[in-house]
Amino acid sequence: MDALDEEPHTSRGSSEVSDKVVGEDGCLEAEGQDAGGDVVKESEGKLAMRELNGAQPLTSMISDGSPDVIPLQVSGSIDCDLSKITANELMAWGLMNMWARGQEGAYAVRHGGEPVSDFPPRPDNQSDGSDASTQPNFFEKAFPCLFPYGFGGIEAHRPVEVDFRDHIKWTLQYFDRRFRKHETFPFVCFGISQRRQALTSARVQMQRKTFERDARLMSTVTVAKLEAAKQEEEKGLPISDPAIRTLKSHIHATASRIQGSDQARYRLRSEIWSTSAVLGPPSLWITINPSDLHDPIAQVFAGEEINMDEFMSRLGPDKDHRAKNIADDPYAAAKFFHFMIATILETLLGVKVTPAQVKSGVGVFGRVTAYFGVVESQGRGTLHLHLLVWLKHVPSSDEMSALLKTEEFRARIIAFIRANIHAYAPGFEDGESVKNLPHDNEVSYSRPPAPGSTDYNTQLTSSEVLIARMEQLHTCKPRRCLVFKKGQLVCKRRAPFQLSEDDFVTESGLCGPKRLYGFVNAWCPAILLNARCNNDIKFLTNGGDTKNITFYVTSYAAKKQGKNHNMSAIMAQGFAYHLDHPKPAYVDDLRDQHRLLLFRLVHTINREQELAAPMVMSYLMGWGDVFRTHTYTPIYWSSVVGALYKIFPELRISKYARL
Ligand SMILES: [Zn+2]
Repeated sequence: MDALDEEPHTSRGSSEVSDKVVGEDGCLEAEGQDAGGDVVKESEGKLAMRELNGAQPLTSMISDGSPDVIPLQVSGSIDCDLSKITANELMAWGLMNMWARGQEGAYAVRHGGEPVSDFPPRPDNQSDGSDASTQPNFFEKAFPCLFPYGFGGIEAHRPVEVDFRDHIKWTLQYFDRRFRKHETFPFVCFGISQRRQALTSARVQMQRKTFERDARLMSTVTVAKLEAAKQEEEKGLPISDPAIRTLKSHIHATASRIQGSDQARYRLRSEIWSTSAVLGPPSLWITINPSDLHDPIAQVFAGEEINMDEFMSRLGPDKDHRAKNIADDPYAAAKFFHFMIATILETLLGVKVTPAQVKSGVGVFGRVTAYFGVVESQGRGTLHLHLLVWLKHVPSSDEMSALLKTEEFRARIIAFIRANIHAYAPGFEDGESVKNLPHDNEVSYSRPPAPGSTDYNTQLTSSEVLIARMEQLHTCKPRRCLVFKKGQLVCKRRAPFQLSEDDFVTESGLCGPKRLYGFVNAWCPAILLNARCNNDIKFLTNGGDTKNITFYVTSYAAKKQGKNHNMSAIMAQGFAYHLDHPKPAYVDDLRDQHRLLLFRLVHTINREQELAAPMVMSYLMGWGDVFRTHTYTPIYWSSVVGALYKIFPELRISKYARL
């Protein structure tokens, strides 16, 4: 395995997540042919079953006192001069180089034509006489650098079974970081986990009472009907065919139970709505962008030894090294994000959420009744949070409208803004004065001022100016925020922002902080100073003019990730595949057929999704994509109506009486 790595022109093999469809019985069905499919690239994780049966684990390598460090490396070649050599040619050259040196070559493993199962080995005493202990474990075979002795694969046979998810969590925390730094291992694990959730979810969906009736309707779906729906969707029209609408709603329900799917994120939106229904509209809308590239805490998670108690900004990794650390270790990036957010919520907002209870005290905003934060990734994969906060003792919208008319109440709102929402600090008068402010590109590679220090207040003032200067200025750029609107290039973030000589609130509820220079984003001083990162904060009075902003922020907070796509078009693709790959065993059973159809369609849709590596780490570790104080239970309307009819049969009668 190690013969290639001394070649000067070799580098790490190309990474690619294998694109496979899982058949209902858990078999991987390869889609199309891979280029250069003769030799398996180690990181692709594809191995042929027939090659593996009877393969011996590398027991000969194990001696007493097994080494901690495994001297195996991923080898591969890259097209350095950017000519278009095919993978086969590259491989031929690579092999020739090895032959020329007269040494042992690489082990070439042919691609198999047969799909392999990514499901756990079946229990002992199977009909074919094999038992679980002899079944090949594909994690061991597909990732020889991760499991170099050929032992210990995920779901490998062992005396005490280890759960799939638990084992993956364990690998991601392994001390030498080889699992979490692997280009494809986390993605492969997450893909398998999503497919299993999709299977379970399709089964649950099928058990719903209405499914039998709906299945009959869905049987009338054809490729032509889906094509028509695709046209409608392209034009932004509602889908007219009832069979397709029914199919879609089942797909939506099935997919919403799968971690990381767009549909699961839609579900968050209804949770935010139900919070508003119970508690009234939220009062604060905050975005927090922790600085994973520069914060020393992220570097500690990435394995750098930094003395945080006696922090010296000139010691430790430099800017490039820090960026590399984070790019190489998405686990560290995700862990840093979740640590920062949990710390901010607990120490600044005064709310501690544990699985058993929610403890709430007084924080920088006063008392908080609830919060709901949605995690998102952007460009490079950095995670950020959109957070809605419900404050305690907030007047209802109607009371608010009346109260805003009083001077005394408006003064209290202004005091709140002065304490928590800033868009001005000395030096932020105009573009010219801002240029003259102190400048430090690495301001986030620092520690917040220590509350016990004698000059704490002076430090706070100077830090606020410096950090706001570095993190809160908005510069409009084409492709980032500038868009054409009515023939004019405007900023979609609405910069320059509204100027104001002082913190203000109007009788109709419009409010904002003092702002003299239009390109300064408002910040929450407590978050800015302690997290030393970009953030944004808006106060929603929910009186008069601002009543409807909740709708906007809710849609924004739980917007779907990634590209927009025409769902009917993707369904049409998946449906065509479904027709081409019938399961003879299911032909007679409408339910089974539709369960398979649902699973395949959900899977086809999910495949279109792009997820950043830190997001995948968050899901695999169970950290998730949401921070919330409350728990939610979906209520099915049909069940509610059913229960009502049972208790109040006269409701049903009165319906007919009216006819
Ligand atoms: Zn802009």
